Amino acid sequence: MQKSLTKTLVFQLDPDESGQQLLDDAFLEARRVYNETIRRTKNGDDWDEIRQDLESDADLVNNTAQLVVQKSLEAMENYYEYDDYNQPSHTKDGAYPLRSNYEEGYNLFLEDDSIRYRISAKPYNPVKGTLQGSLDVLKQLRTAIESETWRVGTAEAMKRNGNYELHINITHTEAEVRDKQDSRTVVGVDINEDCVALASLHEDDIVNSVVIDYPEIKEERHRYFTMRKRMQNSGKSSFDRAFEQQEERFVHDQLHKVSRQVVEWVPRFENPVIVFEDLKEMRDSIDYGTRMNRRLHSLPFRKLREFITYKAAFQGIPSEEINPEYTSQACSLTECEHTTRANRNKKRFKCVECGRQDHADRNAAINIAKKGLEKLNRNVPALNSLPQVRKVRRQASGCVNQPTVTHDTATGHQADGVVGVSD
Ligand SMILES: [Zn+2]
Repeated sequence: MQKSLTKTLVFQLDPDESGQQLLDDAFLEARRVYNETIRRTKNGDDWDEIRQDLESDADLVNNTAQLVVQKSLEAMENYYEYDDYNQPSHTKDGAYPLRSNYEEGYNLFLEDDSIRYRISAKPYNPVKGTLQGSLDVLKQLRTAIESETWRVGTAEAMKRNGNYELHINITHTEAEVRDKQDSRTVVGVDINEDCVALASLHEDDIVNSVVIDYPEIKEERHRYFTMRKRMQNSGKSSFDRAFEQQEERFVHDQLHKVSRQVVEWVPRFENPVIVFEDLKEMRDSIDYGTRMNRRLHSLPFRKLREFITYKAAFQGIPSEEINPEYTSQACSLTECEHTTRANRNKKRFKCVECGRQDHADRNAAINIAKKGLEKLNRNVPALNSLPQVRKVRRQASGCVNQPTVTHDTATGHQADGVVGVSD
């Protein structure tokens, strides 16, 4: 099966003073368009009308205005679909990224040893210069511009830590992801707030399992949550955004590392397919309890899964999903399979029927892998004993404030709807 895959390359820009002024003005205009779109959706205005009005009165290149409006409508859509806690703000401050299409809002020109850019920040007012970046990303972009199998896509100009940057999406149009029906090993993935459990299963045996712990992510999220609460209570909402971005960056960075670790584990098995729990069904079945729990839980599930799917696809490894019902409550031993909530107590699984004990998430990962085999119409092996649980602790990379200029990542959309993330 052919699938297109997108990654994002990050470059620094070198605008002169008037170029900087143009970009700054355009970022503010983009922010106004973004905020106004959000404000009007909250106001209940018709979305088509909002689109028309804002696109025609924005002081931006047409295509750029369209993309900014689209981005804010997507934020609202996402909020309605996934998260009733974090409503997008219509009073966003600071510079807002300028998104544009290749050869419309921005253009690139190959020279002997450099790549020049032209960004139409405002209508008829291009900003020009030379892209700055590592040899590696410059080479990747050059290939993307020249080669038939790559396509240069949308880019975002933005200002981060006082630097002007251009994040360019490039798409490989012929990356091969193996057909999941040709898989031999099913790797069940159970994603939790503080760890991810993996179990690989063949038709005839359980092959291996591992639990990757990442308590730092949970701790950091709790820490920021408490901080945010405290600041909100004392009315300091202006600090909020900065902390939120710090938190996002930290979590984002950690999740990238965890997903890399997961994807490194998988290819050692013969023709693997990665199996996740279906998120939509999971949302309905999770007992969220409080709003806080809900907010704390929602993010890592989705993002980590996205990162794993994407990185695996780049290696040709397909993904599949199964119905999550009872995966955490059922005893995974074949002769037992007793299913009750009482089997599980936090991280400890103890079957009330057969007495078997296990790491609760490893047990769940095995159940996910079993369901994966069923879904592919394969035999599920008789599991009479299970290997020792092996745990790996992800090393915390410590500092939250570390600069993330050159190798930070951004997301971009690709043709088949999967979100691409640079590595
Ligand atoms: Zn049992």
